[in-house]
Order: sequence, then structure tokens, then C-alpha cells
Amino acid sequence: MRLDGRTAIVTGGANGIGLAIVRRLVTDGARVMIADIDEAAGAAAVEAISGDGEVRFTAADVSERLDVHNLVARTIDAFGSINALVNNAGIVHAADFLDLTEADFDRVMNVNLKSAFLCGQAVARHMVERIGEGDEPGSIVNMSSINDTLAIANQVPYSVSKGGVSQLTGVMALSLAQHGIRVNAVGPGSIMTDMLASVADNPELRTRVLSRTPLGRIGDPSEIAAVTAFLLSSEASYVTGQTIYADGGRMPLNYTVP
Ligand code: NAD
Repeated sequence: MRLDGRTAIVTGGANGIGLAIVRRLVTDGARVMIADIDEAAGAAAVEAISGDGEVRFTAADVSERLDVHNLVARTIDAFGSINALVNNAGIVHAADFLDLTEADFDRVMNVNLKSAFLCGQAVARHMVERIGEGDEPGSIVNMSSINDTLAIANQVPYSVSKGGVSQLTGVMALSLAQHGIRVNAVGPGSIMTDMLASVADNPELRTRVLSRTPLGRIGDPSEIAAVTAFLLSSEASYVTGQTIYADGGRMPLNYTVP
């Protein structure tokens, strides 16, 4: 198993894409700490997956420095060290640009972008310390989006935050390469989770999304988990600073699949 003996934190791991990543990492042999604000879903995930391997849950708002500090400490307590981090937690907030409030802008930026900085820095500091004690360098994956470059109307802070996540990925990769720590991002297209419910439940919107998706279907969370597991594994040992898009070939707004 390609992640045998590894330990990982998955933020936002109680639902959707994060939950699929947790399942995949456990299947690949890793021990996983889920960090999420959704305590009920976190507890349910632990119960559902635990038989297949070791998975634990910490309630944490990963946009809060103190919660991140506690999360890292609890994970080290539980597993001894942290070899992998998936910065997956994310939220959307739809509002017309003219009506968007400062509080809503800040909230999305903090959950989607600042959390990746806070968790990335805290875990990377731990990894660098462990490398000094003889551990193999770890690996980090940030969850970006096709909207890191494709702007969506009414999703101002989401698009801006994901642009930041892809840029943060490159900067972290450059900064941590000297320690052998690899940092990459995954850029999903439209994936069937609660976040996409507004699209999935609206036939007109769904048709429009699919008309720009050459593979002609909405993606499954397991398809993002597979790319994430690859990037974390030693099979991707020469890959760093990349954003890998898993989007069914999604095309810009002016494109329609015949
Ligand atoms: P989701 O809403 O199903 O799950 C998000 C998870 O993050 C939830 O468990 C939620 O409780 C958790 N979360 C939210 N705020 C948090 C916080 N402050 N601290 C800790 N946990 C928090 O969404 P999803 O579709 O699974 O999205 C996961 C990631 O993938 C996000 O970063 C999202 O932007 C990205 N993404 C999703 C899609 C898609 O189509 N679903 C497309 C591109 C990118």
C-alpha cells in the first residue's frame, strides 16, 4: 500500500471531497486525523471508516490559529508525527459584487486561503523538525479549483481565494523544496457534493455546466481523492509546485461541447 505507515491530517474531512480523501488515504494504508467544524459528520465518519484502518476526529475551525495549534498537537499526540497534510476545507458564498459585505469576503478568504497558510506553516514546521531527526520529508496538498483562474459571477471571494490557494501552493513549494517537502494543489471541476447542490438540483444550470465539460458528466469525490493520494505518495516524488486539474476537461465560458 503506497501510504503505508504514513500519518495525515485532512481538513474539511467530514463531508464531500474531504471524506472521500480520508477513505482513500486509509485504504492506501495511512492513519488519518479528520479536522472539521461539523462534529456530527466527523463522528459518523470515524465510526464508518474505523474498521478499515485508523481514523480520528478533531473539532477545529481551521481558519483560527489556536484551533490549528491544538489540531497539530493532538495529531502528534495520537500518531507520533505528521507526514501528510490535505488543506481541503472550503466554503462558498454567493453574492453580487455590489452587495458583498466585508464580513462575508473575510470569512471565505479565511476558511479557503488563510487556513491553508496556518495549517501549512504549522505542519511544515513540524515536518522540518522531524527531518532533522531523520524522518523522510512529508508532502502537502492544497484544494484549489478551476476557479483559481476561471472567474464565476457572484462568487467573488471564492474565486479570489482559490487564485490565492494555487499561488500559495507555488510559494510554499519553492520555500519548502530545500527540505525535500513537496507541495501541490488539486483543481477540481464540478464534483458531486453538497457544495454543488445548487447546480445538481437546477436542470438548466446542470446542462450549462455539462455543455462545457468534454467528459460530459459531473465528477465523483473519489476521482479527486485518487489524484490527492497520488500527489501525497512517493509515486509523485519529482512533482512539486503544481496545480493538477481534475475537471473532465472543463472549458472556458465561451466554449460548448458539440
Ligand atoms: P463540502 O461542503 O461538501 O465539504 C466541505 C467541508 O469543509 C465540510 O465538512 C465542512 O464542515 C468543512 N469546513 C467548512 N468550514 C470549515 C472550517 N472553518 N474549518 C474546518 N472545516 C470546515 O464541500 P466539497 O465540495 O467537498 O469541497 C471540498 C473542497 O473542494 C473545498 O475547498 C472546495 O472549494 C473544493 N472544490 C469543490 C468543488 C465541487 O464541485 N464540489 C469544485 C472545486 C473545488
